Amino acid sequence: MLRVAVVGSGPSGVYTAQALVQQTAVPDVRVDVLDRLPCPYGLVRYGVAPDHEKIKSLQQNLRAVLEDERIGFLGNVEVGARGLTPARLLELYHAVVYCVGAARDRRLGVPGEELAGSFSATDFVSWYSAHPDAVADGFGLAGRSAVVIGAGNVAVDVARILARGPDGLRATDVPQGALTALEASRVRQVHMVGRRGPGQAKFTTKELRELGALPGARIRVEPADLALDPSFADPAGLAPANRRNVEVVRGWAAAAPVPAGARSLTLRFFLRPVELLGEDGRVTAVRFERTEPDGDGGVRGTGRFEEIEAQLVLRAVGYRGVPLPGLPFDDARGTVPHTAGRVLRQGVPSPGEYVAGWIKRGPMGVIGSNRPCAKETVTSLLADAEGLAGRAVAPDPLTALRDLGHEPVAWPGWLAIETAEAALGRSLGRGRVKIADWAGLRAAARPDAA
Ligand code: NAP
Repeated sequence: MLRVAVVGSGPSGVYTAQALVQQTAVPDVRVDVLDRLPCPYGLVRYGVAPDHEKIKSLQQNLRAVLEDERIGFLGNVEVGARGLTPARLLELYHAVVYCVGAARDRRLGVPGEELAGSFSATDFVSWYSAHPDAVADGFGLAGRSAVVIGAGNVAVDVARILARGPDGLRATDVPQGALTALEASRVRQVHMVGRRGPGQAKFTTKELRELGALPGARIRVEPADLALDPSFADPAGLAPANRRNVEVVRGWAAAAPVPAGARSLTLRFFLRPVELLGEDGRVTAVRFERTEPDGDGGVRGTGRFEEIEAQLVLRAVGYRGVPLPGLPFDDARGTVPHTAGRVLRQGVPSPGEYVAGWIKRGPMGVIGSNRPCAKETVTSLLADAEGLAGRAVAPDPLTALRDLGHEPVAWPGWLAIETAEAALGRSLGRGRVKIADWAGLRAAARPDAA
């Protein structure tokens, strides 16, 4: 038998587990999928916005994989904690595939980033997704103007949640605290600001289009921003996806002015943040430098500046991988060095250690991009299988994990959390509602111990 640990139960981890049990080259493969959280599904549970029900429903596919009898789920097990080092894991499993994603936000590196009221989009996403590590006291949604920095799909997600108004969110699994705060939000103007133009923005057209159909907000674009983009006059030179984005934005340029007091979402382009301005330690505005296309897909500064009022700033400028002690890390790229998924130590493949997903290729692509990525890694692992299976490993990893002081939450524990979330929802007159704190999750996972 080849015993494999997959670290991380997001899409890349689950697709890796699936590829391992679906192949026929190596007959008897058993997989334990470990996760730091007692809940599976990674960013599908803790990243996909609550109003994106269709993408969320992907959890059903991931669930079917994790219910395979050759796959075990062991939540509440943090690799790197309580002596569970990468070296120790290799004593328990013939092979380990790290699918730990990119847990942190990238920084802007401008003055004022630390002011109160300035958050990473990751913080905001974690909060409305009920991540148990989310900032405990929520978000100040008392100001009237919010700025979202970035023009990727995360920026689109957080701008949409801020601007959409509470309609429809009650029917989702958004935690009660976030729902109450969003219902009471006084934010009226949301600005989403990209440093390049709509022809170079990273958001995808489907996500962009949604912004024009929000129940509670009017969409605006600034015609002066668009005048800077030559692709507006001639979008033929753009890749099809970028051309579609330009066409959508162009359609909004002629939108009617927003009536006073109405909630608005304004898309701004060719502005790069240079400073967050504040008063008494709280952010009040973002200062941007106007940029212009450099003719090479990038932008250059113009020496002209503009300020946008903001009592809330969300920085959505990309994720970044976090080093795992004991595992090599390429600090410049924020990934683990590898060749076709084999972890490289001093440039040489380390027997039994693999990576897949964002920690392998960086934080980009859609959920489906993880399938071919996982497949490539599993192909490498299977090619190495004969050498790996000969190595002696501990007879029972679960006992070894408990001996180290871990208290794994296995699949029945996760099902108990689901049951508790359904009960919480019923008590609030809602559908299923996520439990947002560690104590609540752990108690729900062990109903008999309560
Ligand atoms: P992203 O797609 O890489 O976008 C990052 C944005 O931040 C870009 O607009 C980038 O501008 C900007 N940026 C970076 N550094 C900046 C700086 N110093 N100042 C100003 N702007 C800066 O990252 P993401 O939005 O975090 O998304 C990560 C991945 O998750 C993507 O593949 C995304 O498609 C995916 N995702 C998908 C969905 C969905 O399908 N619904 C939802 C969420 C996330 P430049 O382009 O100029 O660098």
